[in-house]
Amino acid sequence: MSSMKTFLDWSAYDTYGMGDAYAGIPATGGNYAKAVAVCMNNHQCQRDAKGVMCPSYRITHDPAHSTGARVKAFKAALNGELGEHPFVHPDLAAAMDLCVSCKGCKKECPSSVDMTLIKTEYLAHRNEEMGLPRRAKLFGGLPEWLHRYRRPLAALVRLRNASPFLAGLVERRLGISARRPIPEIVSQPVFATAEPATAPRGKVVLFVDTFTHYYTPEVAEAALAVLTAGGYAVEVLRPVAEDAEPDRPLCCGRTYLSQGMVDAAKAEGKRVMAALKPALAEGTPIVGLEPSCLLALRDEFYSLSLGPEVGQLGKQAFLFEEFLMREGNKGLKLDLKPIPGGKAVVHGHCHQKAFGAMKSMKKVLGWIPEFEFEIVDASCCGMSGSFGLEAEHYEASVKMGELALLPAVRSAPADATIVADGFSCRHQIKDGTGRDAVHVAVLLARALA
Ligand code: SF4
Ligand code: SF4
Repeated sequence: MSSMKTFLDWSAYDTYGMGDAYAGIPATGGNYAKAVAVCMNNHQCQRDAKGVMCPSYRITHDPAHSTGARVKAFKAALNGELGEHPFVHPDLAAAMDLCVSCKGCKKECPSSVDMTLIKTEYLAHRNEEMGLPRRAKLFGGLPEWLHRYRRPLAALVRLRNASPFLAGLVERRLGISARRPIPEIVSQPVFATAEPATAPRGKVVLFVDTFTHYYTPEVAEAALAVLTAGGYAVEVLRPVAEDAEPDRPLCCGRTYLSQGMVDAAKAEGKRVMAALKPALAEGTPIVGLEPSCLLALRDEFYSLSLGPEVGQLGKQAFLFEEFLMREGNKGLKLDLKPIPGGKAVVHGHCHQKAFGAMKSMKKVLGWIPEFEFEIVDASCCGMSGSFGLEAEHYEASVKMGELALLPAVRSAPADATIVADGFSCRHQIKDGTGRDAVHVAVLLARALA
């Protein structure tokens, strides 16, 4: 099995753990095994210290639900200790059950174990052997379902949210918790794009992800308003004319990756790379809004065999606030006025934290006059895409939220704005506290003079 087929490209790990006596690289699995092996066993993932890693340990205080325990389970699997079909072994399933793919480990573990990516590879093998579960097909394929069946899906979700009977039925049939509302799909997934009269600061490409497109187009609208006011000509990224589905919005592949649907994620990645070709050639900055989507372009795209242009993309793709900070350093000045309340409680998405993007969040919030804000020291919000919607994970999800984020939001003054860039973080906040949170683009648009 040393030549075990892998779904993702693990070649970046070619030299990992080499010469490291502690690594104990498993006998099989090639470069995937090296990615798994780098744990130093120092138990930093079994602490309640500041930071994100590891939310499943933080809520259980059980070492079995830590990054290190997951590494051990994978080592056993790749060393043949779990039998002929290790990827479907219950021990591995138990170790991975509460991993929310937050990338806390990628940032905070001294060996940068990337359990999020390891999990995608694991799920891909599991799906291959066991077939794709119905719920994974639904959550993973969301970008396709939303494109094909948006209206009936929107109606179904509204009905289900209004009817405890239907919610119970959906839980029994699909394993989606009846204890939460499902995010509602907007009736008009469009936003106005206006050509600016002048664009003294040049062109920007805006990547509008699946969640922004179908659930919160007001975030794209706000980003357009801010960027246009800043002096940029904004082009919303669209599929190329030769795309097999030119009318279907572009997608980073995140929903597919989180369910182990690697081939579908690669197909989405290819569509995005084709659409970005001119921007990459011209050096036009690419700006995204949803942290886990934009950051997939800078992270997971390297593992999807999308060609060498991914390296250039890594230098040109920015989160909205990262782009503004960069431009601020080059002379951008947004004309902002104080906003009612004048304060905010801010929650960073785990992937924003894993990529050190909270610095730029702080910077741009500091541009709003007479504005005070506090960044909550929290781990994962607990919703983590579909995790918090899954019936068997509902309680773990709420516990993660209750570690720090939800109490901090509840104790925020009534006139404070709650800021969260992550779509699922906003869902968790609303569900756990009743308060609406907004993307930083929406807050800045409100402050435009
Ligand atoms: S923090 Fe990283 S290196 Fe340390 S035990 Fe956990 S997984 Fe291993
Ligand atoms: S991705 Fe998050 S939940 Fe999973 S092992 Fe890493 S820190 Fe823990």
